[in-house]
Amino acid sequence: MKHFPALDIRFTPEAESAFPLHDRLMAGLDDFRPTAIEESSALWRVFFDSPGSRDGALAWLRTLGDTRLALEPLDLDDEDWARRSQADLQPIRAGRIVVSPPWCADAARESAGPRDVLIVVIPSTGFGTGHHASTRMCLELLQDIPVHGRSVLDIGTGSGVLAIAAARLGARVVIAIDNDADAIAAARENVALNGVAVELACREFPADGVAESDIIVANLTGQLLLRIAADVVSHLTADGDIVVSGVLAEEQEAVERAFQAAGATLRGRKSEDEWVALHLRVTGDR
Ligand code: SAH
Repeated sequence: MKHFPALDIRFTPEAESAFPLHDRLMAGLDDFRPTAIEESSALWRVFFDSPGSRDGALAWLRTLGDTRLALEPLDLDDEDWARRSQADLQPIRAGRIVVSPPWCADAARESAGPRDVLIVVIPSTGFGTGHHASTRMCLELLQDIPVHGRSVLDIGTGSGVLAIAAARLGARVVIAIDNDADAIAAARENVALNGVAVELACREFPADGVAESDIIVANLTGQLLLRIAADVVSHLTADGDIVVSGVLAEEQEAVERAFQAAGATLRGRKSEDEWVALHLRVTGDR
């Protein structure tokens, strides 16, 4: 099993808001090239790519002799990392879809209603635990359109959450692509965990040979959607539906215009905080 060298830095209550100290720590830690820092007010968990860098950072922190800091080196295994850093992750609901981490799945299944659809996603892998507003809104919009018996293409599948949802909503065939091989590996694991059929491929959209579909979901970024709007529309069968998100409120108009210019009409819009999700439709011949 893979191990991740890490370091916990605990702050005494008076040091939690000692921002000059925080700045100094950040600057100093940077020399040891941390791969990730999880920050909460009382604790920073810093990850390194080797025990040597972690030990170097630890030695440097000790030279500061700051009694407001408690230091603890750790070696976290894959599961530990997922469990500890995501232990507070609870199942989320979007309409009748419930997305749960594996360790809450039994409880989520017991409390689910008869029409609910439970999806299990391992939070440590790939973007898309359902905790991001854009994912939740895509899940909601997917329930506003007929999915049963139709083909679905998920562009930028991340953890596979939207593709799995489409399969569970009765899609006839689901294709999911991502340009990140790690995301595809994660999605593959989640697809298997949910016992659904999703065709996964590591591809950067737009790409040749990606099949036309009745529904396309793409939770990406506003800037990317602006660039690929016409390609998305051209991968749609007649009378097809598009669900996009990852769009910031200030990008919404431009993204809508790009899809309208490509022949789509706006059918629905959702927003939460600064995030927007759109449902567009292309009717008849393009
Ligand atoms: N669909 C998931 C994850 C969205 S995150 C959800 O809704 O939660 C966006 C994903 O798109 C990332 O995994 C990223 O690797 C992928 N991505 C970004 N640009 C892409 C492109 N041009 N082609 C394919 N995948 C892309």
